[in-house]
Amino acid sequence: MIKRCHTVAELNLLLGERKGTVGLVPTMGALHEGHLSLVRQALEACDQVVVSIFVNPTQFAPHEDFDSYPRTVESDMAMLAGLGDVIVFTPSRDEVYGEGDLPVDSYERPTFTLLCGGRRPHFFGGVCRVVYRLFKMVGPDKAYFGEKDYQQLQIIRQMCRDFDLDVDVVGCSLIRESDGLAMSSRNQYMTDQERATSIQIYAGLRAVREAFSNGDQSVASLRRCFQSKLTDPQWDLDYCEIVGPQTLNSRNSEAILGDRLIVAAVLGKTRLIDNCSI
Ligand code: AMP
Repeated sequence: MIKRCHTVAELNLLLGERKGTVGLVPTMGALHEGHLSLVRQALEACDQVVVSIFVNPTQFAPHEDFDSYPRTVESDMAMLAGLGDVIVFTPSRDEVYGEGDLPVDSYERPTFTLLCGGRRPHFFGGVCRVVYRLFKMVGPDKAYFGEKDYQQLQIIRQMCRDFDLDVDVVGCSLIRESDGLAMSSRNQYMTDQERATSIQIYAGLRAVREAFSNGDQSVASLRRCFQSKLTDPQWDLDYCEIVGPQTLNSRNSEAILGDRLIVAAVLGKTRLIDNCSI
């Protein structure tokens, strides 16, 4: 059964005595199979599962898509209802941020400026602000995050270490459409033509993995290999990096087995991110 609440007080009533493990799946809604895979994992491992839906204003810059971000709570609830007993937590902005500043609000790490942080310098600070607050509000034993947002996953793990948060952060596999596009709530921004072009990213990832497994370890050559698949002139490549899987530091000369290939590119109005291990 699915139950919805808006405040921490209501949430605590629904959670009751908290016997066993509480799992949290933080989302911004507009749910798809990628989100549902996190919820399924939480339901398998936890006694109670909370899915939060909150479009977090602090992770959007003024020129970004906060206002137009899809908000589809009713259909999100219907999708979750098919999975099992889930508490859907849809707090207001005041419920999340009403208590004012916290030490996490000035939290910074060198990793915030890498990769996605280059074009979105505000982003990881905003993510940490909201995830920290959600952890405090919900008090989960486990929290589920997708490898789709690989940099975010590593940064949240680091935040838990830095603030001594006793939450087991579980990383979940990236879920793709049948043609390879990484599922994302923002994919619906694309025109049909852009959607057809978008699979070039996955073609690029596969080509790099193949080149690496055939012995090409040169970062410059692997990067060229990725770029060669983005044949549509519309692409605006933000970055294509091979990074240490935990440090997120870019390799400059040679890639090592287990590294992460991580990319971001803009197609029209849609910014797509993707990654895979090599
Ligand atoms: P979002 O609603 O985009 O903030 O995402 C909420 C959570 O779902 C994050 O932990 C994401 O990494 C995860 N997620 C989003 N898309 C996918 C996907 N295609 N595969 C796996 N996890 C995903």
